[in-house]
Amino acid sequence: MKKVVVVVILIICVIFLIIKNFRNVKNTEKMDNSVVYENNNEIKTDDNSSEINDWKLVLVNYENELPKDFEPELSSIDKTRKFDSRAIEYLMQMLQDMKSQGYRNIWPQSTYRSIARQEEIFNKKIQTYIASGKSKEEAEKLTLQKINKPGTSEHNLGLAVDFNNVDYNFEKSKEYNWLMENAENYGFILRYPRDKKDITKVDCEPWHWRYVGEENAKKMNELNMCLEEYIKYLKENN
Ligand SMILES: [Zn+2]
Repeated sequence: MKKVVVVVILIICVIFLIIKNFRNVKNTEKMDNSVVYENNNEIKTDDNSSEINDWKLVLVNYENELPKDFEPELSSIDKTRKFDSRAIEYLMQMLQDMKSQGYRNIWPQSTYRSIARQEEIFNKKIQTYIASGKSKEEAEKLTLQKINKPGTSEHNLGLAVDFNNVDYNFEKSKEYNWLMENAENYGFILRYPRDKKDITKVDCEPWHWRYVGEENAKKMNELNMCLEEYIKYLKENN
């Protein structure tokens, strides 16, 4: 009789362990879509997930916010502008080559912005709207149409650059055409093309370029994919 009891208990334990293991597998699957940020700013993922583990491809947009304490390692472009240390040489080389080829009317207007600075700009804009008679709610809504919420701007990442006067005239310049032709060789892509607005949820920004690395940039242009599409494509094809 005692033996029977022991066997029954053992069977129950085995069933319990199988169910527990099955649940863990399910949870791991659920986590696949979320990128985990660690304190050292390295972006880590589950070993067995299909997540993209590449600092050049970090997706920052309205639904992928950087952690508040995110701080990339930066190098200086000049007295006021900084860029990700791992990518700055490609930006500088690109600008140098443009100029040496006669495309001289080009400068990086806006590059890295800290999340704190983004917050400052964001709050200032809200205050401007409030001062012009808008309610707090309206002011926030209007601000969100103009400025990215702190942590959701690629400029917080240190891999984005806005050129020249940050306006639509840039699209008509020969420097813009040069970038469209050659920026991929330096690892840069036009981040918000006109025909991808439905996916990026950002209006076309001819001035805003993002470093993703040469291989990725070329592949994205070849496939005619924006970053959101490309990351999805890589996940599905890995
Ligand atoms: Zn920008």
